[in-house]
Amino acid sequence: MASIVLKDIVKEYGDGFHAVKGVSLEIADGEFVILVGPSGCGKSTLLRMIVGLEDITAGDLEIAGKRVNDKAPRDRNLAMVFQNYALYPHLTVFENIAFPLRLAKGKFSDDEVRRRVEKAADTLELREHLERKPANLSGGQRQRVAMGRAIVRQADAFLFDEPLSNLDAKLRGQMRTEIARMQRRLGTTTVYVTHDQTEAMTLGDRVAVLRRGELQQVASPRGLYEQPVNLFVAGFIGSPPMNFVPGEVRGDVLHLPFVDVPLDDALRAAVGDRRLVIVGIRPEHLEDASLVEEGRRGVTFGVDIDVTEWLGSELYAYIPFDTNPDVAAKLEELDRELDGEGMRSQVVAVLSSESRVRDGDRA
Ligand code: ATP
Repeated sequence: MASIVLKDIVKEYGDGFHAVKGVSLEIADGEFVILVGPSGCGKSTLLRMIVGLEDITAGDLEIAGKRVNDKAPRDRNLAMVFQNYALYPHLTVFENIAFPLRLAKGKFSDDEVRRRVEKAADTLELREHLERKPANLSGGQRQRVAMGRAIVRQADAFLFDEPLSNLDAKLRGQMRTEIARMQRRLGTTTVYVTHDQTEAMTLGDRVAVLRRGELQQVASPRGLYEQPVNLFVAGFIGSPPMNFVPGEVRGDVLHLPFVDVPLDDALRAAVGDRRLVIVGIRPEHLEDASLVEEGRRGVTFGVDIDVTEWLGSELYAYIPFDTNPDVAAKLEELDRELDGEGMRSQVVAVLSSESRVRDGDRA
């Protein structure tokens, strides 16, 4: 196992385009770190530079304390699991898993190969499928074979590039749990690229959010959700996303498009000396006024709800304001059905420290 340290890593593709613009990140031995961000933000490029499939234009990459910029992929002792698994269709599961050991010609005896493959197969619950071909496996089983191949090498770290994106929603959920369980059991340093929010928030010890080749924030999932450093992270993490509402401070009042909020000490501290601010309110911090416990801090105002989405365990109401998109509120329940006209309801915005975000650039 090994730590992975990125120091000011830059990737310039031939035409002067910088896909990665000076990323620094320290991944501790045994840590599980997620790289997440919108399409094209440079997350795969970063992963490919770590594994050695892409040259590093500038900066230092250290694995287990040694600079490896110029080392060939096979000398970095990292195992990469790709989206399409890269299994050999003509080989059995056993031989697919054994493949990296066979590649190191003569280094592993047949007994050693068998021992390692069977151990990995036990960990992955593939023992009874060892003689099958990949075509006769389910998507999830194929995924496990690909992971088995990473395990037998006893690599210093696992690198995953969107490994679950080809699976259906149910299997993705199962595999997500399996990957988390296995990483915990093996304790191997893991870097995992995804654009899937749920994977980002549930799998990693820490999540690194990238945008246009730049690192925005690295924090625990909870840290990202509760203390985003800027509007981008605030809007990217969370589904439905945080509502952004323009506000103007005049004297002791924060004017929002739908209500005036008296500034208490906490809000005053948050807005500082800015006049124009953007207030971020998570959908779950907008609550149905009739259901809010007494004594809870918040501002009450009337809204028109024109669309609701009931997802079984939760209900979202969409409120058209001048904002774009509509403001989303996560409500416990609604006591009336919507008719064609929509409905008028009282909503409380609970403006507490969690429901506030500031952005230095735009405030
Ligand atoms: P996705 O989630 O869509 O896979 P990503 O965040 O993984 O996106 P990368 O594949 O790392 O993004 O690409 C980052 C940027 O670099 C993109 O704008 C992409 O077009 C560009 N890029 C990637 N590979 C090359 C290449 N070989 N030559 C030139 N530009 C490239």
